[in-house]
Amino acid sequence: MTGSTDDSTLRRSLEDAIGPEKVRTDDASRRTYSTDASPCAVEPRAVAFAESEDDIRAVLRVCRTLEVPITPRASGTSLSGAAIGPGVVLDTTRFHRILEFDAGRALIRVEPGILLTELNVFLADHGMRFAPDPGSQDLCRIGGMVGHNASGYRSVKYGQTRDHVQGLKVLLADGTSLDAHDVPLDGAEWRELVGRAEGLERVRREMDAHRDAILSSRRPIRKHSSGYELVGLMESLARGVFPLAALFVGSEGTLGLVTEVTLKVLPIPASRVTLLLYLDRFPDLGPAVADIMTWGPSAIEAVDGDSLALLDREALGVPREAKAMLLVEFDAGDIEAIADAVVKRVATAYPLSRAAEIAFDPVRQSALWRVRRSLFPTIIQRPGPRKAWGFVEDPIVPRDRVPEFMEFLVDLARRHGTVAGIYGHIGDGNTHYRPFFDPTDPQDFERMQALREEFDRALLERFQGAPSGEHGIGRIRAETLPRVWGAEVYGVMRRIKEALDPRGLLNPGVMFSPDPWWTTWGGLESRVPM
Ligand SMILES: Cc1cc2nc3c(=O)[nH]c(=O)nc-3n(C[C@H](O)[C@H](O)[C@H](O)COP(=O)(O)OP(=O)(O)OC[C@H]3O[C@@H](n4cnc5c(N)ncnc54)[C@H](O)[C@@H]3O)c2cc1C
Repeated sequence: MTGSTDDSTLRRSLEDAIGPEKVRTDDASRRTYSTDASPCAVEPRAVAFAESEDDIRAVLRVCRTLEVPITPRASGTSLSGAAIGPGVVLDTTRFHRILEFDAGRALIRVEPGILLTELNVFLADHGMRFAPDPGSQDLCRIGGMVGHNASGYRSVKYGQTRDHVQGLKVLLADGTSLDAHDVPLDGAEWRELVGRAEGLERVRREMDAHRDAILSSRRPIRKHSSGYELVGLMESLARGVFPLAALFVGSEGTLGLVTEVTLKVLPIPASRVTLLLYLDRFPDLGPAVADIMTWGPSAIEAVDGDSLALLDREALGVPREAKAMLLVEFDAGDIEAIADAVVKRVATAYPLSRAAEIAFDPVRQSALWRVRRSLFPTIIQRPGPRKAWGFVEDPIVPRDRVPEFMEFLVDLARRHGTVAGIYGHIGDGNTHYRPFFDPTDPQDFERMQALREEFDRALLERFQGAPSGEHGIGRIRAETLPRVWGAEVYGVMRRIKEALDPRGLLNPGVMFSPDPWWTTWGGLESRVPM
């Protein structure tokens, strides 16, 4: 759907619907909203700024009437090209109030445009926080975290956004408003819901009809942001409950527009301890992580030796001989005793490049986190035409296979004539992989394509992983999605989309597209990777 309406009719209709001050169609605005944090670029026809649910409803009505697609957008830090689109981009950043905080039930109700950091500043006054903590935590908003089912440094303990969403308010493409939460299938609420949104019954029937294929599509990974979470949905349906909110979390704006979010919040941990460990031997990484996991860390991050070599080792105090770095954190129990036991165990079993460093106070802790946190900025600012564009940047594999997978990734980059930054949330099996290439150089572009093909094959077949642990499918991985879950389950995903958005109004080109991953890349000469 691209819409046959001319641009001035579209602009006038939007202005009539929400007011001229909330609509932009000038070149500069359309250019600004043509990119997110991915290498993709798609210029919208208009940008609409929603300040309320009524605004969203009104913009949706215009788009439906004129058959113009709509892409909901929060901060636009999507790394997969999911926050850009060819029709109307719906900016939700002005729709950002806290509506209700229920300290007793540890729930908070917010508008989707609220910044994660603003939310956590509010919660901190009450000793609480929203647990998922992506690297983009100063920039991203709750609507975007819901869209991508975001997670972060501490997902090994606290999981993904889906685990912390109690309920959503959602507008379907036809304008139907849903209170999305767990709904028993044998009750009056479900009957009332399917009376208003018949597509939901089709979703349930579709799931039932492909039960075995869905359950056997499960991959041995701890989390994913690689398409609708059908395995979890199926398991819940088998218990007689439709987990309506869970279906929309991670749907990347393709199933509905989120207008309100109720989040579960947690107490801020009373204390934390951070450990920094440099291993002399890369093969020790796997066993060391397995050992540390038995103490239940709240974060466990790894960087391989080749990636450490990209850093200014002197300035950051990284030992020359280190072949891997582990950054570990605990936030519960007797943290002094745990730190002591972990260091004893690791230092006895594996040669360390330097004595383990332990920090209990926040200032020292952030100094220890500095090596891990400085890797990404160092990589993206690397001089020269070859840049760390994200196109294979978020794989997830079974946790015990991460060291083997990292070795594969180092070798893969070498064989395709480059080097790469490799780091990530090893406790989850989620690795970030940034090989350096110049996509504007035809030969390098061929290397990228060959690397991507080999990467996808090995990731899906040999390592039984998925292409995104947290950044989403978007435009960059849409081509790969059918291969992740198999043709039958991919077909179910497509029919769920059709059941809830039959005219393909919501974020087309995202998640479902046969186009090669690079089709919508654009403007790279004047951009830097994020
Ligand atoms: C430097 C950097 C570090 C990052 N680190 C991490 C990380 O550690 N972990 C991680 O998970 N991600 C990470 N990301 C990716 C990104 O920040 C997250 O996916 C984040 O949750 C996106 O939030 P946003 O507000 O920018 O959303 P956007 O990018 O604007 O949108 C994301 C998706 O949500 C949809 N959406 C937005 N609002 C709505 C709505 N109201 N209704 C329906 N759909 C909606 C959009 O259509 C899109 O599909 C990182 C990105 C950068 C640039």
